[in-house]
Amino acid sequence: MSTDPLIDFHCHIDLYPDPPAVIAECDQQRICTLAVTTTPKAWPQNRQWTMRSHFVRPALGIHPQLVGERASEISVFEQHLPEARFIGEVGLDASPRYVSSLVLQEEVFIRVLQACAAHGGKVISIHSVRSAGRVLKLLERHLPPGRGKTVLHWFSGSTSEAKRAVALGCFFSINAQMFRTRGTEIVAVIPADRLLTETDGPFTAEGDAPARPIHVQSALTVLATSRQWSLELARRQLRSNLRDLVGEW
Ligand code: MN
Repeated sequence: MSTDPLIDFHCHIDLYPDPPAVIAECDQQRICTLAVTTTPKAWPQNRQWTMRSHFVRPALGIHPQLVGERASEISVFEQHLPEARFIGEVGLDASPRYVSSLVLQEEVFIRVLQACAAHGGKVISIHSVRSAGRVLKLLERHLPPGRGKTVLHWFSGSTSEAKRAVALGCFFSINAQMFRTRGTEIVAVIPADRLLTETDGPFTAEGDAPARPIHVQSALTVLATSRQWSLELARRQLRSNLRDLVGEW
């Protein structure tokens, strides 16, 4: 039996210079990769690029950092929603640069969650910078249990917020860079069966270059080390988690 595939559950494939080459690498190296997008206008192209891929799935997104200028694109998002199984990147960002649009971000995120709840069956990759508590509150209010599954990407909230998210059923996609700050203490409170890995490429680096999905190996290694798992066990656990979350990839 072959090794379990690597998993990059949050990567911006459309932001690399040659997206089809990144997708081809995912297929050759067997990396289950979620290609998140930042604007719903990117959905048709991403869908087309990934149509024949066995390992890359596209996600429909409207990034909170763009909502200040592009909130009106929520209507484009809603139009495409029935075509998408995966949703992301969506969420909130209350860091100093984006906090001025937070009210608008909340309105847009509520519409995202309401649309997902109405259709059902979506798997959602969520950004929650300096806003984990607000994100969890909106999930509680607008995404009833059984109406969608959620993955908190690059979670940077408190450990008590992480526990609250676990109780809500959230999964977590963990990247290597998280371990430079509070990743170890956050990961310690997440059950083994809620963990996934990600690169958030090209926004993280591997050496001097932007990380590609193949570099999710670094996240796997630090995660395995922090849990005292062998790499083989880590790959098996994450594969099983991916199955629980989405069924067959
Ligand atoms: Mn991202």
